[in-house]
Amino acid sequence: MQVVQPATTQEIAELLRSAQAKGASVAVRGGRTLEQILPAEGAASDLLFDMSRMNRIESIEKGNLLARAEAGTITAAVQAAAEAEGLFYPPDPTSLETSTIGGNIACSATGPRQLKYGGTRDFVLGLEVVLPSGEHIRTGADMQKSVAGYDMTRFLVGSGARFGVVTGAVLRLLPKPQGRRTILCSLPSWTAGAAVALAVLKSGMTPAALELLDLHCLEVDREAWTSLGAPWRGAVGAESVLLIELDGVEASVNRQHAQVERLSADTAGALVLSLTEPDEVSRAWELRRRLLPRLMAGSPTWAMALAAIVPDKLLLPFSSDEPPVSLISNGPTRVACFAHAGTGVLHLFVGIDPAKERDGDEAIALVRRMLQRLRDLGAKLLRTYGPARRLLGEEEAPASALMERLAAAQRSFDPKGVMIP
Ligand SMILES: Cc1cc2nc3c(=O)[nH]c(=O)nc-3n(C[C@H](O)[C@H](O)[C@H](O)COP(=O)(O)OP(=O)(O)OC[C@H]3O[C@@H](n4cnc5c(N)ncnc54)[C@H](O)[C@@H]3O)c2cc1C
Repeated sequence: MQVVQPATTQEIAELLRSAQAKGASVAVRGGRTLEQILPAEGAASDLLFDMSRMNRIESIEKGNLLARAEAGTITAAVQAAAEAEGLFYPPDPTSLETSTIGGNIACSATGPRQLKYGGTRDFVLGLEVVLPSGEHIRTGADMQKSVAGYDMTRFLVGSGARFGVVTGAVLRLLPKPQGRRTILCSLPSWTAGAAVALAVLKSGMTPAALELLDLHCLEVDREAWTSLGAPWRGAVGAESVLLIELDGVEASVNRQHAQVERLSADTAGALVLSLTEPDEVSRAWELRRRLLPRLMAGSPTWAMALAAIVPDKLLLPFSSDEPPVSLISNGPTRVACFAHAGTGVLHLFVGIDPAKERDGDEAIALVRRMLQRLRDLGAKLLRTYGPARRLLGEEEAPASALMERLAAAQRSFDPKGVMIP
């Protein structure tokens, strides 16, 4: 496989034209974060486009509330550039410090702030794409509304590299919220955390983010959570943390903050910490972002299921509070749950110590039971990740009639099968 680092859209167009003529296959990489959780399967491509040189933020247009960025721009860089102009780019996949705008678009990435703002798909106004034939197309425009009917931009977001190479995007921005507050709620169980999250939603507030982490997530960074003020409740007791971000005009944030405190106080054993120092706030969100890398680093053999359920079912005791005691140790075998509690997007992580086969089997069986219970409650298993992902069972495939039409769409963009998604 030959790795190339194109610097311009024209270069990509020429490379694709030549690949198509030679019958060569092409793959694209941005920040390469997806391959950390989804190991590649199948044959390698002949050519790999590394987009890291196409990392320019071409403009931030304050009056038009938009940014233009090349596809290889790191997501956090777009956020920082927007903030410097008093603007806000909300999509926040937890890989944002290393993933790219092109990769976020290809994966339709979302993150904690999906609850209030939506994900990448909701913030892409237009795309520049080079099709496998080498043809350069633009979709959408630099306006909030650019089509009255069928929306090609939204069709392309989330399509991987199936239909071509994204080289640049026009991104929608918002005015930066006047006030922001992070509240760390320490609770005696997963169910208690989910109950507070639900009470917040029912109260009519829409926090920017509501992140629920169970005991086993806290264990991987225990000292850091404790240094933020989260109490140490003891290794065998159940526990959870609900990390809440509120934003908006200052007066409204203050009112919501008081309301969250009241709602949490109704839960026995809740401790509400308002993080006031900017350093504490960034440490708390950094801890949330590094959770998955820490879990992965702790267990060489791991798998994770991504499931979605209506938020009020998150509080049904599907047993995050009651894993077998052997799994609560700090060893590599562990089961950990974390959720975007406001949207019901749930991650079930299982790390396995290959030397302790019995514990590993027990952990996998536990996660499979949890998944079955979630399915019985109407959840969708969206995806499985990690080297051991096959142990968690099959992902739900779309209906075959739908798959056939998608394959037909792919052939119409890429009749020679150049792109490896
Ligand atoms: C620690 C960690 C946390 C994560 N957290 C989240 C999360 O919160 N939310 C979430 O949605 N995902 C998350 N992910 C998954 C992944 O980070 C995201 O999907 C991210 O959007 C991928 O961006 P990337 O730049 O790293 O792309 P890559 O990993 O390099 O590529 C991902 C896919 O996008 C395609 N692609 C990349 N660039 C282009 C382009 N310019 N044109 C066409 N196709 C392209 C690639 O071919 C590949 O199929 C996480 C991953 C890790 C490792």
